[in-house]
Amino acid sequence: MLPARVTIYEVGPRDGLQNESANLSVEARLRLIAALADAGLRRIELGSFVRPEWIPQLADTDAVARRVVRRPDLRYAALVPNRAGLDRALATGMREIALFMSATETHNLKNTNKTIAQSLAHFAEILPVAKQHGLFVRAYLSTIWGCPYEGKVDPARALEIARRLRAMGCDELCLGDTIGVGNPKQTREILELFLREMPAGLLALHLHDTHGTALANCLAAMELGIATFDTSIGGMGGCPYAPGAAGNLATEDLASMLADMGIDTGIDLVKLIEAGALAQELVGHKLAGRRLQAALGRRQPGEARIAEAT
Ligand code: MG
Repeated sequence: MLPARVTIYEVGPRDGLQNESANLSVEARLRLIAALADAGLRRIELGSFVRPEWIPQLADTDAVARRVVRRPDLRYAALVPNRAGLDRALATGMREIALFMSATETHNLKNTNKTIAQSLAHFAEILPVAKQHGLFVRAYLSTIWGCPYEGKVDPARALEIARRLRAMGCDELCLGDTIGVGNPKQTREILELFLREMPAGLLALHLHDTHGTALANCLAAMELGIATFDTSIGGMGGCPYAPGAAGNLATEDLASMLADMGIDTGIDLVKLIEAGALAQELVGHKLAGRRLQAALGRRQPGEARIAEAT
């Protein structure tokens, strides 16, 4: 049975922007976040507390976190790479953080400069402090469906890491098809393995759409009771491993499909398209989201007619 309600976790202001070449101002980032919140998104990842020299696009996440409009029904999260990042998150009033590591050694080393054992040891230091401050902690576990360096991944190995993360007290495990190579059969197999010992409510999926299979993978996951999915407005961000290829699943593609299926997301699709149009304007190029392009394409002839008539 499909879930009656699905939560869409918007990663555009973080995962999207970190893979875009444009450096947006704090103002522009706040405008985008406000548009996403206005469209009904209730979980938004607003940035990352990594060192600005690593990801210049996300420098000043402190200012974004300080100035973002907070509401009781709106949950913001930010990526925290280390203890210094956690201190920045706490100093700027964040109530949710996201830690990240990969299920494969090579990707973890390239992405975090740590072995898997080192990442786990590191989390074990950060988590008690985060919990002491009452933070909600999400942990990303990337490359479960496939690794750009190691190819096929053993889901049992990923499960072993997930087990450790859960035991440390992570509130949510976000499983990632980081390069978007998964298929629905594989998604079912991976999740069946995880769901043997973990509740569906603990899990979220971060699916990329490189091969156009992200929506099919979402459906396979929903059939197993998963009800939280990460998406990026307009599919913003592209794919860091394949220039020109689609990256994150586009928010409006998933939100529209769910609306068509009668599954509640709380999202206003008209406003979501506005947010997508804004994202496209801010990054300065056409975004990959199919529903966004379909909606903007439909709108333009109408606008032209109005222009001609006046
Ligand atoms: Mg991503």
